[in-house]
Amino acid sequence: MLFKVFPEGELIRLFELLAADKIVGPVKKGEDQHGRSLYDFDVVHDFADLRLDYGQTIHSAKNWFLPYREDLCTFTFQDGGSGDWRKDVDYGVYAPLVLFGLHPCDINALNKLDKVLLGGRYPNPFYGEKRANMFIVGHSCSPQPFCFCKSMGTDSAIRGFDLFLTRMDDLYFAEILSPRAFHLLEQIDCHEPDSSEHRRYLDMMEEKESLFVAHVDTSDLTKILDLEFQAPVWQEWGQKCLSCGTCAQVCPTCYCYGVAEQVDMDLTHARKEKMLYSCNLLDFAVVAGGHNFRPESHTRIKYRYYHKHRGFVEAFEESLCVGCGRCGQSCLARITVPEVIASVRASK
Ligand code: SF4
Ligand code: SF4
Repeated sequence: MLFKVFPEGELIRLFELLAADKIVGPVKKGEDQHGRSLYDFDVVHDFADLRLDYGQTIHSAKNWFLPYREDLCTFTFQDGGSGDWRKDVDYGVYAPLVLFGLHPCDINALNKLDKVLLGGRYPNPFYGEKRANMFIVGHSCSPQPFCFCKSMGTDSAIRGFDLFLTRMDDLYFAEILSPRAFHLLEQIDCHEPDSSEHRRYLDMMEEKESLFVAHVDTSDLTKILDLEFQAPVWQEWGQKCLSCGTCAQVCPTCYCYGVAEQVDMDLTHARKEKMLYSCNLLDFAVVAGGHNFRPESHTRIKYRYYHKHRGFVEAFEESLCVGCGRCGQSCLARITVPEVIASVRASK
């Protein structure tokens, strides 16, 4: 990895150099009932709208590479379905995309999705085409009270980005992972960091470590989840859960989906649509014939935790949760990962 340092004022120049492509970054979307700013990822046309001081966005950036709704293919029929027909597949990649300002948790979330969606026997070309077309600029963060990425080992990113920027008051400390990022920095006023700037960077990292409030004890968690599969505490969480699916919608690593086929009434067109789904929704485990393998709420919320913290660990030796805390922040029942895991660990 290469390192550079540049004055804070050069950031707008960097933004302008990238602006020939579509830039998606954190922007302010309004305020909550307490007057706190709400942020989300959206297209940024003006540098002034880019809010790199955001704490956390409501949704992750996944809609830009794993859309909530996406046509897998469309069909065109002739002569009311009795003649020729054509199938079209569109991966939905029309222009290079720059994701500007991802925090380490969201970069690590992408790395995890890559393992599932690109690393298996059947890579997902819709996701793969979008990933290949992305330039990622990471940005340092300040831990929020609900962030527990440190517990999940995702509080810093060492891969999965082109450029990572750490704000050090009037300077940016840049970590460079791709040739394009290197050439980009050649076009702005930057230099190799000296030893005092190395020290400043390390001090920043140390200070960040001390700011975490929320924690999850992950030691022996897969074993504990196996042992506590029948623990009554799952029933309690099931009674609280509204089965709304919001947690999966905001989560940067939830990728489960459903597929529906729709045919136009005049039999001229049809499409196969993929929709991101949630394992907490009532019909998630309904199969052909109508049987529902998980009709009770507690079995569904339990499944979500077992997928994130047990099944994925078994398959990839890491958790599928990056500790961003979005699910707990968006949950109307105030169900948070640290509380659920702590309650399971404390089961008697
Ligand atoms: S957001 Fe909360 S209430 Fe809704 S499904 Fe998830 S855990 Fe249940
Ligand atoms: S489960 Fe919750 S805390 Fe973990 S990655 Fe998903 S939204 Fe973030």
